[in-house]
Amino acid sequence: MVGRGASLPVDSSSSCPKHMTYGPCGGVGFDGSCEIDAATRCAFVDIDTVGWRRPPAPTVVQSPSAGSERVRALLGERPLVVADFPARAVDARSLEECVAAMAGPVDAVLSGDAGPARVQFAPSYRARLIADADMLPFIGLNCRDRNRVALEGELAGLAHAGAGVVHCITGDHTHTGSRPDAMPVFDLDATELTALARAAGHLVSVAESPTTPPVDRRAARLREKEKAGAELCFVNHCGGAEPVARFIAQARMLGSTSGFLPCVPVVLDEGSAHLLRTFTTLVLPPGYLESILSAADPREAGIAAAVSLSLAMLQIEGVVGVDLSGGAAPGRETEHAQSLAEIAHRLKEEL
Ligand code: SF4
Repeated sequence: MVGRGASLPVDSSSSCPKHMTYGPCGGVGFDGSCEIDAATRCAFVDIDTVGWRRPPAPTVVQSPSAGSERVRALLGERPLVVADFPARAVDARSLEECVAAMAGPVDAVLSGDAGPARVQFAPSYRARLIADADMLPFIGLNCRDRNRVALEGELAGLAHAGAGVVHCITGDHTHTGSRPDAMPVFDLDATELTALARAAGHLVSVAESPTTPPVDRRAARLREKEKAGAELCFVNHCGGAEPVARFIAQARMLGSTSGFLPCVPVVLDEGSAHLLRTFTTLVLPPGYLESILSAADPREAGIAAAVSLSLAMLQIEGVVGVDLSGGAAPGRETEHAQSLAEIAHRLKEEL
């Protein structure tokens, strides 16, 4: 396992399987247990928020990437409609088909980590493929699969390839997902990766899970990520518009300056519902899944529900866009992409 250096001011990292300095991760169980061992308490859940220990990120980015400039310009005009990218992993044809289905109504796709498909095209190569197909790529970068040198190489490649946003996450442990045979790295964590990405000229987004312990300190953790350089926050599924509004209000009280993109669950059939249920610490609005799946036309019900919830999210102060979140049943990636485009299209008509 990779060491983290002897000078860490807290020793929580030594008992964290991901060796995090700025924990906890988003995989803490609702009872405070560790993501990979339900019998062990998370090393961070009972301690104060670990403050960012390096100089705060400069307010003006030196040498901003072209992609980041494009997103900043878009954000100055209107809310963004982002969608989790449903293309099959390591399949360039599926990628092209999905982009073709979504281009226009969807402003950008978030292409990141996936539990059922840990092996993906390299992040910078994915960014280039998506950009070449004429879609703005937001690319997830995790600390599980690459050490800091490899991450620095990816960040350089992502700037060159046109990534609009780099979404910095610690990542699930290899004990979860499709490749438990792989060695986990975790040389850095999400907050440290944020600083690297910002220094490389990227517009950086991070994720927070308001309903995941420690619930009363998730906003404070976001604040520390902002000091490291994060400017956007994807708010994980936490039960609807009211919990999102509460979380943003807490963050603002602490001085948060982020723009927020809440996740909006997209459920169109049993397959997409199954995939959504694999998300860690998922909390949906009460009855959301059930009402869609029991409808006479689940696809139509799912589209209408996503549009309605997106509109509610966009009313909240600080929300600068939404992320249509979820994934397709195997073999239904293109149909899922078409439905995402339909949601985005209806949403923009309403706006
Ligand atoms: S839940 Fe996450 S942050 Fe907490 S100890 Fe486990 S791996 Fe580390």
